[in-house]
Amino acid sequence: MFLFSDTYNNQPYSLVVVMFTADGAQMRVHRKPNKRAGGPKLKGGPVAGGNSRTTAGDPCVGDSCGELKGENEADRQRLQQMRAWRRDFHTHPELSRNEWQTRKRILTVLNDLDIEVREFADHAGVIGVLQGRTPGPCVVLRADMDALPIREETSVPYRSQHEGVMHACGHDAHMAILLDCVRELSRARSTFSGTVKLVFQPAEEDCPEGGAERMIQDGDLRPPGVSAIFGLHVWPDLPTGCVGVRTGPMMAASDRFIARMVGRSAHASQPHKGCDAVVMAAHAVQTLFSVVSRRFDPFVVMALNIGKINGGERYNVIAREVDFEGAVRTLDEDTRQRMSVMVRQVLESAAGTYAGHCTVEYQFGYPVLCNQEEAVALLVDSARHILGPANVRTRIDPVLASEDFAHYLKYLPGAFFLLGCAQDPTTAPSLHSSQFDLDETCMLLGSKIMTSTALAALNHYSVSAECAPRASD
Ligand SMILES: [Zn+2]
Ligand SMILES: [Zn+2]
Repeated sequence: MFLFSDTYNNQPYSLVVVMFTADGAQMRVHRKPNKRAGGPKLKGGPVAGGNSRTTAGDPCVGDSCGELKGENEADRQRLQQMRAWRRDFHTHPELSRNEWQTRKRILTVLNDLDIEVREFADHAGVIGVLQGRTPGPCVVLRADMDALPIREETSVPYRSQHEGVMHACGHDAHMAILLDCVRELSRARSTFSGTVKLVFQPAEEDCPEGGAERMIQDGDLRPPGVSAIFGLHVWPDLPTGCVGVRTGPMMAASDRFIARMVGRSAHASQPHKGCDAVVMAAHAVQTLFSVVSRRFDPFVVMALNIGKINGGERYNVIAREVDFEGAVRTLDEDTRQRMSVMVRQVLESAAGTYAGHCTVEYQFGYPVLCNQEEAVALLVDSARHILGPANVRTRIDPVLASEDFAHYLKYLPGAFFLLGCAQDPTTAPSLHSSQFDLDETCMLLGSKIMTSTALAALNHYSVSAECAPRASD
């Protein structure tokens, strides 16, 4: 998950303050309360327990959330094993494109289970392949593998042993869940027709490139070989026992721009002999935010942020250069493209006003994550069966975090859902926090939903194929 929480909703004075790391791999967000009444309205209103707007929608029945319905000895053993896997990953986190030991751990489990495995020479991705009793459609389940450049500040006994690296986005839990799915589905092989591919994907946090496109190419995860894909993300804004999903756009496109204002230096006492890049940058930042609020429909959801500014040499010198970086999150392609043009126009124009110039590098990152209706229906049916209907929120508001799972959905029908992982969402540390931890019991539910959805999808797509008219018909 590449995180950017909350919305700049084109309303003046709605402030979003974001801190970037130098490489932009980590962002933490603090939002000043918007006292104006003009913010976006929540669909479904606030949820009992004070959940944030990202989990609004159809409400969760408070007391039943967090219960593990039907927990038995087999479930307890599954959860115990998942805890062990997850804690092992958590203790030994690896950054994007360096997940080699993580891969080794995954391969050990897959080999123990005697699963057919595909691995690759130039990245750490792994695909486990499970063939059912007879040929049929192919369904993919995906987990991501990488950790973040964050120094862990928890006191759990399984905290990171790798200084400055932490599984702060829950990908350790995603891998543990997928390993349990492998085990359950391998036991059920004789009961299904078709193939399930279990994809362990590296470099999800490495926006803008990410790891999904490589897995799609190298694993041939496209039609006609694959019918559908499913994935999940642990979500601390939802209580354990609840999941959230929606059809259509659910997570944002994540783009970034890097700009340099260039002027001419001079003595501070003679500004007319220079060309002040600090003033250009200040003008550009102000103009960007006001232009967004005037040129986009107030109902268009997006987030714009300038997260880093760096420039000038000395207090009494007119600054020659100022560098700055910004982030843009959007939920539709048209707004995304318009923003890229507008940002460039505003920056160049602001520089020109003061007789300077500006270079802009606009990087398109992950696309909008768009869930497909049929796949969501399969997922929701399974989740309702496992969690009870009231604990499956099917109309959550979109979130402005981004995910490179969106790349798979460019090619394949599929659904991505948010798995509640907090005992109390009002106090749970957020994703990408140095204090992040999760309620591990959610892993059992995540695995059950993924496993059940995979089996339902195999059945659904084999029936669809049988019903489809043949070319000769
Ligand atoms: Zn993340
Ligand atoms: Zn993530």
